Amino acid sequence: MIRFYIKTYGCQMNERESEALACLLDSLGYMECFREEDADIIILNTCSVREQAERKAIGKAGLLKRLMNDKPNLVIGIIGCMAQNRGKALFEMIPHLSFVAGTEQLHQVPDMIEKALGGKRHLAELGQGEPVYHECPGHKPGGVCAMTSVMRGCNQFCTYCIVPYTRGRERSREIPAIVDEITMLAEQGTKEILLLGQNITAYGLVEAREKGTYTPEISPFAELLEAVNGIPGIERIRFTSPHVRFMNERYIEAICSLPKVCKSFHVPLQSGSDRMLRLMHRGYTADEYLRRIDAIKSRLPEVAFSTDVIVGFSGETQEDFNATRELMKTVGFDMAYIFRYSPRAGTRSAETMADDVPDEVKHERNQILLGDLEEFAEKRNQLFKGRVLQVLVEGVSKRNKERWTGRSDLNKTCNFTPVPGLKEGDMVNLRITRCSANSLSGEVVM
Ligand code: SF4
Repeated sequence: MIRFYIKTYGCQMNERESEALACLLDSLGYMECFREEDADIIILNTCSVREQAERKAIGKAGLLKRLMNDKPNLVIGIIGCMAQNRGKALFEMIPHLSFVAGTEQLHQVPDMIEKALGGKRHLAELGQGEPVYHECPGHKPGGVCAMTSVMRGCNQFCTYCIVPYTRGRERSREIPAIVDEITMLAEQGTKEILLLGQNITAYGLVEAREKGTYTPEISPFAELLEAVNGIPGIERIRFTSPHVRFMNERYIEAICSLPKVCKSFHVPLQSGSDRMLRLMHRGYTADEYLRRIDAIKSRLPEVAFSTDVIVGFSGETQEDFNATRELMKTVGFDMAYIFRYSPRAGTRSAETMADDVPDEVKHERNQILLGDLEEFAEKRNQLFKGRVLQVLVEGVSKRNKERWTGRSDLNKTCNFTPVPGLKEGDMVNLRITRCSANSLSGEVVM
């Protein structure tokens, strides 16, 4: 049997696409393995968000050549954002590469593999840049939590971001196709669904414009959430990533009122300074961001927010940084991904703005925000001590085989000692006994 191994870099969209590709190859008689040494076909699913991520994948592909000493016919392919971004130039850097496939060419990978197994090299399928949507719908069976991509691409062109170039323009799947896929997952035992899209709050807007039904008040994403909320067996809905510009009343009302939508929201901020937000081309001000957060807070008894922040963007002054720090304190984020700005070749900021904040200043600002975040998260988590939380059981903890783990509605990781009869996918009540900045510990309440 011919065995394949997929290594995934980057975001959840890439994870989802690796899963779909593995299912596709499995359906064609190939067998997945989990060590590159065992594989006849190695596929790297790559990320382009940072230069560093590309360097890592290129380094890995270079190192794989040594496996060809024992297996001269080894097929090595690169898919995902870096394949789209660098295309055939990868063959010059990695001559032993068999194929590259762009972000919308997953469905063509089996054909390329077949040709590569027949001895062909340097095959490329990169699309023509047209906004197409080829969904490979396969899912690995039995996952309590599953991911579904509902839209791809982004039309925002934030000045630092490569995504619109690697993932193309926004396009969305139809609601019935998404509902069918999630219904099938629910029938197989999935309880929590994570909806994915690079700019998910813009779901369906391009199509609404094409049909002439667009108004600023509509939110096709809210309609999608309502449809998914009605699927029997699905108990929790999460989604990522929204954009403040598209968080209108219709959307806010839906996320706050639909019972299955978890009340833990990721809302990318990037900066708390209006000047930086303008330079980043984010399309909102700090005040508009806060107003959306307040609109959600005012409708819910309890809510958690997480975010993305960039420190040291072009021209960021101490005053700009202070504005970010203040805004983060005002919101009170439970979690944040904080990045030090590094210019990404091919983006507008890399080409037109100086990377003029010294590395040590970026590092210092990063540390300050991490310190604030930890302090807040620790204090916030202490408030859960003694409370009973409903937790979706995900299974044995990766860190301690004696303990099990799950997450609360607010996306808090909760560890506990299992009780007889408990299984993955159960909802369990936990009395929280210990808290840290990163997780909670509790005992099952029968
Ligand atoms: S909205 Fe997100 S994906 Fe789109 S360009 Fe901006 S940062 Fe990139």
